[in-house]
Formats: sequence, C-alpha cells, structure tokens
Amino acid sequence: VVPVLAVVGRPNVGKSTLVNRILGRREAVVEDIPGVTRDRVSYDAEWGGRAFTLVDTGGWDPDARGMAERIKVQAEVAVSLADAVLFVVDATVGITDADEAVVRVLRKSGKPVLLVANKVDDERREAEAYGLWNLGLGEPHVVSALHGRGSGDLLDAALEIL
Ligand code: GDP
Ligand code: MG
Repeated sequence: VVPVLAVVGRPNVGKSTLVNRILGRREAVVEDIPGVTRDRVSYDAEWGGRAFTLVDTGGWDPDARGMAERIKVQAEVAVSLADAVLFVVDATVGITDADEAVVRVLRKSGKPVLLVANKVDDERREAEAYGLWNLGLGEPHVVSALHGRGSGDLLDAALEIL
C-alpha cells in the first residue's frame, strides 16, 4: 500500500506550487487568485526511490461566507485520509486565524505533521520563519516552493514520518 502525504493550509500559501515542485512537473493548478484548486487532487509521487500519493487540497473561495469553516472541514477530510501531513504557511505573512484553525485540526488528528514555512525565497527572509516555532509543531521547514529552495530537505524529512 502506497502511503498518503497530504498538503494542507489556508488558500494562497503556495500548496499547489509545492505540489508541483515535489512532482517535478506542473500539474497542480497554481493561481494568483486563491481558491482555484479543487477540493482534493491526488498525484503519484516519488522521492528517494519511494512511491507515495501526494494530495493537494483547496477549493475554497476566500471571499465566500464561512470560509474559515470550510478550510477547517477540508483540512479534517484531507488529514483523516493521510498518513502524514505537510502543513504549509506563508512565512512572509505569518500566522493568521485561518492558519490557527488548521493547527487545531492537526493537533486533534494526532497524525505526524511537518510545518512548512513557504515563500522564504532568500536567506534574508529566513529570520521571519523563526516565530513559527511558537506554533508548537516543531521545526519550521524553510522552503521556497517557487524557486525550489529547501524542498529536497523537506522531502527527506517527510519520508521519515511517512
Ligand atoms: P495555494 O492556494 O496554497 O495552492 O497557493 P498557490 O500554489 O496557488 O500559490 C499562490 C500564490 O503564491 C501564487 O502566486 C504563487 O506563485 C505564489 N507562491 C507560491 N510559492 C511561492 C514561493 O515560494 N515564493 C513566492 N514568492 N511566491 C510563491
Ligand atoms: Mg492550490
């Protein structure tokens, strides 16, 4: 049985960009307008000779009423189907209420989680990610999904908990 790695987080943090980076091809839909990804999309992925299923999540209209509730429900569904989770936050924005709602879902699930601090495009931005230790999810894995910074180390860490 192939293990499942789900990518969760609020809209626009770069989940689909990270999924494409991991796949090594452009398959997940990346949009400057948040909320374009369908609820859940699964892809066959491989790293270090190991196969796994990578699940991208999304499908929320951030302007819709009840967005926070929808993010929460989507995260619950994705996490329940996953063996491990990549929780993506935007290091340039910091933690929002919507991020906090996802954190509560992750805590409740008891599933292994890696905290991904995305959009750290250069070294100068790394300091912004240190505050993320406060989430209590362990070390923030600093990446730039757009440029590929840190994605190999992140995947090495992901395989260890998968
Ligand atoms: P999603 O809604 O979480 O799936 O986010 P997307 O992957 O669709 O990305 C939302 C926006 O953030 C797009 O404009 C991406 O190009 C941008 N983005 C994603 N990753 C990075 C990154 O590492 N650095 C920067 N600067 N922008 C990024
Ligand atoms: Mg997306």
